[in-house]
Amino acid sequence: MTDLFGMTLSQLQQLCAAEGMPKFAAKQIADWLYAKRIDSIDAMTNLSLKARSRLAEIAYIGRHSPVQCQVSNDGTKKYLFEVPHTPGQYVETVYIPDGDRATLCVSCQMGCKMGCRFCVTGQQGFHGHLLTSDILNQIFSIPESQHLTNIVYMGMGEPMDNLDNILQSTEVLTSPWGLAWSPKRITVSSVGIIPQLRRFIEESGCHLAISLHNPFADERLQIMPMQKAYPIADVIALLKRYDWSGQRRISFEYTMFKGLNDTPRHAAELVRLLRGLPCRINLIRFHASPDTPFRTVATATMEQFRDNLLAHGITCTIRASRGEDIMAACGLLAGQQQAHGSSQES
Ligand code: SF4
Repeated sequence: MTDLFGMTLSQLQQLCAAEGMPKFAAKQIADWLYAKRIDSIDAMTNLSLKARSRLAEIAYIGRHSPVQCQVSNDGTKKYLFEVPHTPGQYVETVYIPDGDRATLCVSCQMGCKMGCRFCVTGQQGFHGHLLTSDILNQIFSIPESQHLTNIVYMGMGEPMDNLDNILQSTEVLTSPWGLAWSPKRITVSSVGIIPQLRRFIEESGCHLAISLHNPFADERLQIMPMQKAYPIADVIALLKRYDWSGQRRISFEYTMFKGLNDTPRHAAELVRLLRGLPCRINLIRFHASPDTPFRTVATATMEQFRDNLLAHGITCTIRASRGEDIMAACGLLAGQQQAHGSSQES
């Protein structure tokens, strides 16, 4: 059986050709899936009965609702989705309303291979890639789906390690036959896997966010093992080869850890490293979680760090803390659910 949800127009055209259906049927199916958001082949009423019954024999629409939702005092919601093709695996999706904006943070993998030491997901290991349909399902199957203004690929997993499915999902989001969103409403994050990063920059128009967290190679290696294969200096050298002066933005995520990356020495090295690259740094408050040696930085220290960067001409903001009561750590809820499932099975 084929999952229709997540297929591109050209994939649907191939399917229709193989099944003897007219070429225009592919556009009609895409319209039902993405613009009209139906979840049953029966609902595709402008397809012939014969076409619908043949489709139902060979395909399905892989849409499914979240199994759990935690709601924060500030309106942030953390949804938990089961991954249908990998029993016992769950991923998290976070909905963040903010005035006129409503941002959804989606996951792209079950767990993660990157092993960042401060990240709960990274400590859980890797359990598989999400398919394009799994990624899009997080966007289409939450109650607030129609109100979203922005999507960030910053949940569980490393997007560049699942790049084919990331690019296919953003193609559905941005194509006229899909949701027809501007790519400027979408930001994809990465620790900086250079070959895939190069492909992403060249093939996608979406914004890019690099997880930086420490400008010194030896110190970054202590918290981010991928620094060894892809040093941040090489990542930034790659970025400097492209033009970022237009509408497409590059930003750097900088989670602050008390005593580890919050000093004027770190700010000065950031200034040196990023010189000549039009970009923004987002300073992120670390949410302390169980079993972590990392500690939260005082607000005053974060503000001094920000002001130091601003004084040297780097656009820098402190990202507002949202959903702190439910956000103890990305991946925690999915990890708990998996542990619960496996203890029930054993
Ligand atoms: Fe993976 Fe991101 Fe966690 Fe690093 S921070 S381990 S890249 S999910």
